[in-house]
Amino acid sequence: MTEWRNWSGSVVAHPAVIARPRDEAELARVVREAPRLRVAGAGHSFSPLCETDGVLLQLADMEGELAVAPDRRTVEAPAGWSLARLTEALWAEGLSLPNQGDVNGQALGGALATGTHGTGRELGSLATLAEAFRLVLPSGEVVECDALREPDLFQAARLSLGLVGVATRVHLRVLTALHLEERIERRPLGEVLESLDELAARTRHMEFFLFPYANAVLLKTLHPCEPGPDEVAEEEADDVFRACCELMAAAPRSTPMIQRTLTRLWRSSARRGPAWKIFPSQRDLLFEEMEYEVPAANAAAALRAVVALTRERRMPLAFPFEFRFVAGDDLWLSPFNDGPRASISVHQYHRMEWAPHFAELEDVLRAHGGRPHWGKRHTLDGDDVRGLYPRSENFGRVRRAVDPEGKLMNDHARVLFGWSL
Ligand SMILES: Cc1cc2nc3c(=O)[nH]c(=O)nc-3n(C[C@H](O)[C@H](O)[C@H](O)COP(=O)(O)OP(=O)(O)OC[C@H]3O[C@@H](n4cnc5c(N)ncnc54)[C@H](O)[C@@H]3O)c2cc1C
Repeated sequence: MTEWRNWSGSVVAHPAVIARPRDEAELARVVREAPRLRVAGAGHSFSPLCETDGVLLQLADMEGELAVAPDRRTVEAPAGWSLARLTEALWAEGLSLPNQGDVNGQALGGALATGTHGTGRELGSLATLAEAFRLVLPSGEVVECDALREPDLFQAARLSLGLVGVATRVHLRVLTALHLEERIERRPLGEVLESLDELAARTRHMEFFLFPYANAVLLKTLHPCEPGPDEVAEEEADDVFRACCELMAAAPRSTPMIQRTLTRLWRSSARRGPAWKIFPSQRDLLFEEMEYEVPAANAAAALRAVVALTRERRMPLAFPFEFRFVAGDDLWLSPFNDGPRASISVHQYHRMEWAPHFAELEDVLRAHGGRPHWGKRHTLDGDDVRGLYPRSENFGRVRRAVDPEGKLMNDHARVLFGWSL
């Protein structure tokens, strides 16, 4: 039996077939003939977006090159390329993405389809960079869309969960090659929460990590700098943290003590180099994740509330929370589509229980006006989607027009968008 697993191993699917087309004509034929179909990127989503018992498409073998527009403001890139491949190719052309998230293993098409983001109060998610798509529709027809050609299809394709077609090529806004200086330092939790606005205003990129049982954060800032002698040291595998996770898995009650000790061991550091090498980090230890985006005004209160509940209920959450800022946008299904939001991520070591803890914390984050990251664990249903996203009706209308039979739907998508069938 064919088996497909996501990055964390929490989603195991048994597609009838995994198809790896090499060109657009072959891809269009597979799509046209498939009775049920999902397209996967790199499988980095924690939610079961790619689960299917039909055809599972992977685009990594598709032919195609990077094309830079004459004004060097946009590029056209294959949607199946990983962000690592894309950003390295951009660098060779003297270009950078304006922002990136924690890792670069995702496919471009997959990262856009869930609204993947980095941090920066003035910087939107990667999906806000897309200016045009080449799509294979469920019928097998190939179309190009942008703000002027097929504008509704374009609006839906910008953040689509793979529900309106298979993107083969994407036009993206880019910047002239960017060098970054990274600074990492330990700071008291209370002080950071008191000065969130000021920190966000004076940093291009600001995020922090916080073990729920400790009172200090690891603050990470990134700033553009002049090209200089690069100091991009290879990250070392974190054997100490791995051993601690195993200890917390074996003895969950030790979690608070271990986290306070680990926090005391945090050291300041600084490095600089090409943005595409500085943005991503190495993530060797598998984890499961839930992330909610709360209105920026509720940021500190929401974080205080999840920390308080974690402590009160003595939840053994082995990994730190992660806190970021993301700019507002106008994408129909984007959690950020009504203004800037703070992103609060809750991670759990993959060998420890996560579902009941995520469920309790999800209630708190929802109560603070949160909307989930589509690629991470959440329990929304169709009513929630329509309540949280006023423009989901527009998305549903486009989805129904291009896929009336629900060829691109799976069980998870039906829970969220079954109302649009
Ligand atoms: C270690 C790790 C770190 C992460 N860090 C971040 C982070 O910093 N910021 C953040 O926001 N998220 C982060 N994520 C979440 C991740 O970026 C998203 O879940 C992203 O969607 C995964 O991309 P993927 O290529 O693996 O897509 P998949 O998980 O394979 O697919 C995601 C969705 O994209 C659709 N899709 C894929 N390709 C196409 C295509 N060509 N056309 C149309 N639809 C398509 C799929 O159908 C599916 O609905 C992280 C995840 C992991 C595992």
